[in-house]
Amino acid sequence: MIEEGVALSRFTTLGTGGPARWFARPSTVGELEHTLAWAAEREADVAVVGLGSNLLVADEGVDALVLKLAGDLAAAAAEDDMVIAGGGAPLAVCLHRARAAGLGGLEFACAIPGTAGGGVWMNAGAYGGDISGVLERAFVVSADGAGWLTPAELGLRYRHSGLRHGQVVARVEFRLYPRLVDEIKATVAELQAQRKAAQPTNKRTFGSVFKNPEHELSAGRMLDACGLRGFAIGGAIVSPRHANFVENAGEATTADALALMAEARRRAHEQFGVVLEHEVEMLGGIEIPVLAG
Ligand SMILES: Cc1cc2nc3c(=O)[nH]c(=O)nc-3n(C[C@H](O)[C@H](O)[C@H](O)COP(=O)(O)OP(=O)(O)OC[C@H]3O[C@@H](n4cnc5c(N)ncnc54)[C@H](O)[C@@H]3O)c2cc1C
Repeated sequence: MIEEGVALSRFTTLGTGGPARWFARPSTVGELEHTLAWAAEREADVAVVGLGSNLLVADEGVDALVLKLAGDLAAAAAEDDMVIAGGGAPLAVCLHRARAAGLGGLEFACAIPGTAGGGVWMNAGAYGGDISGVLERAFVVSADGAGWLTPAELGLRYRHSGLRHGQVVARVEFRLYPRLVDEIKATVAELQAQRKAAQPTNKRTFGSVFKNPEHELSAGRMLDACGLRGFAIGGAIVSPRHANFVENAGEATTADALALMAEARRRAHEQFGVVLEHEVEMLGGIEIPVLAG
């Protein structure tokens, strides 16, 4: 079923963003193909929201068909030494299935609050691991057809894939290895404790704002040195805990977050001569204002 005008702020962890012109929740590959054909007939753009944990959506909304994978396309199961997941399956569920089956390799994902498909799109990673290290192949569906792609064919590198809007990661196969359940639990507990000590938790954020630049300082340390912790524009505030996070402190809009990002990028450029590249994905034709000069 195609819905109209669904508010996307419900589907982003920052809690901002306007409505999708069209919205659908396909739950099988067949339904997904049917929905993509519907969009192609209308020459409508297509985008996917996972758990919206790395997503800024325009306040004005998105003039496209926005998909949220559901049902079979959001489930995961272990099979031999693999976890096979729908693109909409939360990584936390994939990790849970892996742990229950005594399969290691996905522990790094314990602090990444996204889906398998969003993880492939971003090549999400943490603590030395990333999706490209465990991904066997992904089933990608578009209006032009469908097929399995390997990490190399997906062009996975640091927080990047070669995927384009309209290409939907419908299924993912993670190849893992046998590991004792207690060891998996211990690693996950340790990584979660590290995360809790360093980054904001239980806040409305969208994860890292900027990619780490090729510089001795990480983006977070650079923005910290620019005195940005706690700096606010409207309802958006640079996390007092970690300067590479933006929090929604109340009634933030996407415009507030973008203004904050523009100021952060301006200061990093002024102080370090570095043009920071944003990690967060954007829907609805928005961009951070370009630096002058
Ligand atoms: C508190 C917090 C901590 C975080 N820590 C980390 C971290 O340590 N490492 C890290 O890498 N990231 C981290 N993130 C960012 C985020 O969780 C990851 O980038 C995650 O992979 C995004 O997945 P998602 O399903 O939420 O995707 P979304 O944010 O919903 O979407 C991101 C992009 O992926 C596309 N997309 C989503 N699903 C699909 C699909 N099935 N098919 C095609 N395209 C799709 C969207 O169109 C969009 O372009 C963090 C975020 C938060 C809020």
